Amino acid sequence: MGECAMLNRFSLMLSMLAAIVLLSTVSQAQQPDALLFTAEEIAYLKQKQQLRYCIDPNWLPFEALDAQQKHIGMSADYLKLLGQLLPLTMQLVPTKDWSESLLFLQQQRCDFLPLAMRTPSREKFLLFTKPYLTIPSVIATTIDKPYLEDLHQVAKMPIGIRRGFGFIELYQAQYPDLQIIPYDSYEEGLLQVQSGLLYGFLGNMGSISFSLQQNKMTNLKISGRLTGDSEMSIGSRIDEPLLSSVLQKALLRIDANAQQQINNQWLKVQFEHKVDYRLWWLLVSVVLVLSLLGSWFYLKTSSLNRALRLANAELEQLSQHDPLTGLYNRQYLDTKLQQALALCQRQQLPLTLAMMDLDHFKQVNDECGHLFGDQCLRHFAALCLQNFQRPQDMLVRYGGEEFILISVGTPAADMKKLLQAFVGKFAADAVEWAGQQRFCTISIGAYCQVPPLSLDAKQLLQLADEALYVAKNQGRDQLHLVEPTAAE
Ligand code: GH3
Ligand code: MG
Ligand code: MG
Repeated sequence: MGECAMLNRFSLMLSMLAAIVLLSTVSQAQQPDALLFTAEEIAYLKQKQQLRYCIDPNWLPFEALDAQQKHIGMSADYLKLLGQLLPLTMQLVPTKDWSESLLFLQQQRCDFLPLAMRTPSREKFLLFTKPYLTIPSVIATTIDKPYLEDLHQVAKMPIGIRRGFGFIELYQAQYPDLQIIPYDSYEEGLLQVQSGLLYGFLGNMGSISFSLQQNKMTNLKISGRLTGDSEMSIGSRIDEPLLSSVLQKALLRIDANAQQQINNQWLKVQFEHKVDYRLWWLLVSVVLVLSLLGSWFYLKTSSLNRALRLANAELEQLSQHDPLTGLYNRQYLDTKLQQALALCQRQQLPLTLAMMDLDHFKQVNDECGHLFGDQCLRHFAALCLQNFQRPQDMLVRYGGEEFILISVGTPAADMKKLLQAFVGKFAADAVEWAGQQRFCTISIGAYCQVPPLSLDAKQLLQLADEALYVAKNQGRDQLHLVEPTAAE
C-alpha cells in the first residue's frame, strides 16, 4: 500500500474517531441529568419485568453474536450500563440477520433494538430515543482512487452498500443515478471492491475500518467522508411509548466517562490495529539498514583514513629521512635551514650550523669494507642523536660521510664546548662490526653565532664548509669555528 495513502487513511480515521467521541459526548452533556420516572413509567416497568431485544448479529464493532451466541460489541456494553439503571432484566432474542431483527420488531416479538438509525420507513413501527452514538459515513475504495468529497463524483459507478443499511434510502433519494448494489456483509462487498467489480463500498466508518482490519485488506483505503452520519438511537416498539421514554431517561443517566470508555475500547483498539505495522517495521528496517550502512561506512572510512594517515606518515618519513642512518635528509634541510636562519635573524638568537665529515673515510671503506663503512655511518649518527637531542637540534645526513647539525638558541661558547667534546667522544668510541674494530675521527667546521640579517642559507653553508676545510687542513679530528663577523 502507498505510504501516503495509508497515512491519509490513518489521519482521516483519527479525525473521524474524534468526531464520534465528540458527538456522542456532546449529546450527553446537553441533557438534564435527573432520572425521574413518572408514576406511569414506574407502573410500566413493574409490569414489564423483562425487556426482549434484537440486534444485528454480524455488525462489529457495534454489535454481534459471538460463537456462543452471546451478545458482544458496543451495544452490549451500553445495555450493561442501562441494566444497572433499570429494574428489569434484558433478554436477547437471537436472529439470523439484521432484516430478521427488524422483522421481529415489526411483529413485536421483541421490544427494542439497542442500535438503530432513524429512517422514515422504520418510524412506522419504531420509536427512537435521541441519538447517543454518531458514526461518520465513509466510502472505501482501492488505494489508487482519488479522495472523494461527494457521491456525485461517482454517480454512474457501481457502489456497494450493506443490505439493510439505513442510508440506502437516504442515498437513493439524494443521488438517484447511483448504482447501489446491496451486500449481506461488509466483507463480501469490500472483496468486490478489491476485485474491481465495485468502485467503492459505503458504510459507517466503524464497520468499514473494522472489516478492513479483520480481513487485512491493506490495498483498500477509506477515501472520503460522506454527508450523513449514522446517528444511532435505541429503537423501541411503537405500541409501547412508555418504553421509549424510560429508555431515553436511562440513556441520559449514563455517565459520560463510561460512554467514552466504551467508544474508546471498541473504536480505539481498531485504530491501533489500523496502524500498518508492516510500514512501521519497514521504517524500522530502513532506519536500521541505514544506520548499519552508516556505521559500516564510518568504520570503513575511518580505517581507510587511518591507513592513509599511516601511509602519509610513512611517505613523509621516507621523503624526509635518510634510510641508512635515520637522520633527516638534504631536501628536508633545505626548508628547515631557511626557517631556522630566519628565526635567529628575527629573534637575534645564536645559530649553529656544524658541518661534520668523517676523516679518511675512503680509507676506512678500502681497509674494512663498504659494509663496515656503513656501520661507521650508523654508529656516527647514533652518537650524534645521543649528544644533540634537544628539540631545537636537527641532524641531517648531508651526503656521503658528511653530516650537518643545526641548533637554534644555544650560546656559541656552550656549543663550542659541546662540539669539541663530541669530536673527542667519537674518536674514543670504536666502531665494531662483524668482528672488526676501528677507531674513526671526524672534522667539524661550525658556524656558531647570531646570524646577521645579510647572511643567507647558501652563504652560511659556504662558511661552515670553509671552516671544515680548515679543520681538515689543520690535521683533522678537530673543530674549527667560523670567525665571528662584526655585529651589524
Ligand atoms: P677526508 O678526510 O678528506 O674527508 O677524506 P675522505 O676519504 O673521507 O673523503 P673522500 O671524499 O675522499 O671520500 C669519502 C668516501 O666516503 C668515499 C665514499 O666511498 C664514502 N662514502 C660515501 N657514502 C658512503 C656510504 O653510504 N657508505 C659507505 N660505506 N661509504 C660511503
Ligand atoms: Mg671525509
Ligand atoms: Mg667528505
